[in-house]
Amino acid sequence: MKVIIIGGVAGGASAAARLRRLDESAQIIMLERGDYVSFANCGLPYYVGGEITEKESLFLQTPEGFRSRFNIDVRVRSEAVAVFPQEKMVRIKNLSDGTVYEESYDKLILSPGAEPLKPPLPGIDDPRIFTLRNVPDAFKIRDYIDLHKPQRALVVGGGYIVVSRWQKI
Ligand SMILES: Cc1cc2nc3c(=O)[nH]c(=O)nc-3n(C[C@H](O)[C@H](O)[C@H](O)COP(=O)(O)OP(=O)(O)OC[C@H]3O[C@@H](n4cnc5c(N)ncnc54)[C@H](O)[C@@H]3O)c2cc1C
Repeated sequence: MKVIIIGGVAGGASAAARLRRLDESAQIIMLERGDYVSFANCGLPYYVGGEITEKESLFLQTPEGFRSRFNIDVRVRSEAVAVFPQEKMVRIKNLSDGTVYEESYDKLILSPGAEPLKPPLPGIDDPRIFTLRNVPDAFKIRDYIDLHKPQRALVVGGGYIVVSRWQKI
């Protein structure tokens, strides 16, 4: 059985690892359009706040680790740009060199997650406005803090993650 998983963070990575435990012979391909897989989102605020200082500590597993430990073919900077369910085929764009190719599958798992909502407000594109969803977001905020040493911050949104995590910053 050949399985393609779209998305390589919490959902995609756990599905891949679980699948390998259930089926030792399956061919498993995990596609991630970003640079990183299987990172600890819950650790990102601690990195921004300086409690986690090592970037490497944010990663639970690397593409190489997935390969050697679970025999999973992890392709970062690889975006699924089209799915053809009739043909059981995914079109993939290699974001490093722009090439596009197709890969067949028997089963497809979608775990593309979500993106932060930026409300269409005047000034929303100001470079001092950040969102925090993934590793590059956290690096960007930390770098800004280190460079500009801001004394005040305004957090917009007061859901569970903000209340439980941002108090650490
Ligand atoms: C700051 C922060 C703190 C959090 N803290 C906690 C916590 O303490 N406890 C808790 O339970 N949860 C926490 N969460 C929530 C948790 O991180 C999310 O529920 C989890 O990341 C969702 O995982 P996911 O795999 O569904 O989606 P995502 O993490 O969004 O991953 C989806 C991935 O799919 C990739 N992708 C999307 N489309 C494509 C495509 N077409 N081709 C290839 N790749 C694609 C994206 O690049 C992305 O990397 C936190 C979240 C944040 C942002």
